[in-house]
Amino acid sequence: MRKPFIIANWKMNKDVHESMRFVEAIKNKLPVDQEIGIAPQAVSLYNMKLTAGNSNLQIIAQNASAQADGPYTGEISLRTLVDAGATYVMLGHLERRRLFNESNLVINEKVLAALDAGITPIICTDEEMVQTEINGEIHYVFQQLKTVLNGVSPDQLKDIVISYEPSWAVGSKHTANPDIAEAGCRQIRQSLADSYNYDVADQVRILYGGSVNPQNIQEIMAKPNVDGALIGRASLDVNNFLQMINYQQQAQLQAAQAI
Ligand code: PEP
Repeated sequence: MRKPFIIANWKMNKDVHESMRFVEAIKNKLPVDQEIGIAPQAVSLYNMKLTAGNSNLQIIAQNASAQADGPYTGEISLRTLVDAGATYVMLGHLERRRLFNESNLVINEKVLAALDAGITPIICTDEEMVQTEINGEIHYVFQQLKTVLNGVSPDQLKDIVISYEPSWAVGSKHTANPDIAEAGCRQIRQSLADSYNYDVADQVRILYGGSVNPQNIQEIMAKPNVDGALIGRASLDVNNFLQMINYQQQAQLQAAQAI
């Protein structure tokens, strides 16, 4: 059974104190049957972890260096992120690729280094895929993912989280489309089954990212291959975020009101 995972990607927003206040406001309101995480700016990680205390809020790094340590001014090592309390690290986000020219090869090095350091990668990938025919059926190969997962064993893959983020939907005015979210996540799962095996592909959590908000999250999360959401803009407001992480209770409430 894949546990739903909802993640706030705060990008370069919120200072240390704002981040801690946000955690304070949500830490006792987390749903028990889902994993919830926040990816703040790196300088806030440690204090957020302390504020989160015994709650099961996951503190997530937005990036890391593939190098263990040494003369890399401005970089942050995976070991330091783990020490600061991060349990996951996002790798290959669209903005890292576009604005900082991160290539699939560099992201692959980071994925392997994260696995070595004992921190779970959340790999972001977009809609770049090629169609291929297998036994008369159309299958898809996700080019970025294929390179980024080079050298990752089936056993390691099971714990990795993948986020499907069509580039046109991230940070844009487009409305997220639940059917597109489902189709992309399903195709990624099938592509993993082709290159690994069905059993492993069935265990990997695949999230959708791109213009998710309190109005569309229920419908997106109801899709069978969507195991969670990576949320940018809409996660910055504490009430919006609480509404989104508690989408199941909201759905039950609406159903009860409709009777
Ligand atoms: C993101 O940055 O990963 C993202 C999905 O952003 P937004 O929700 O703002 O589209």
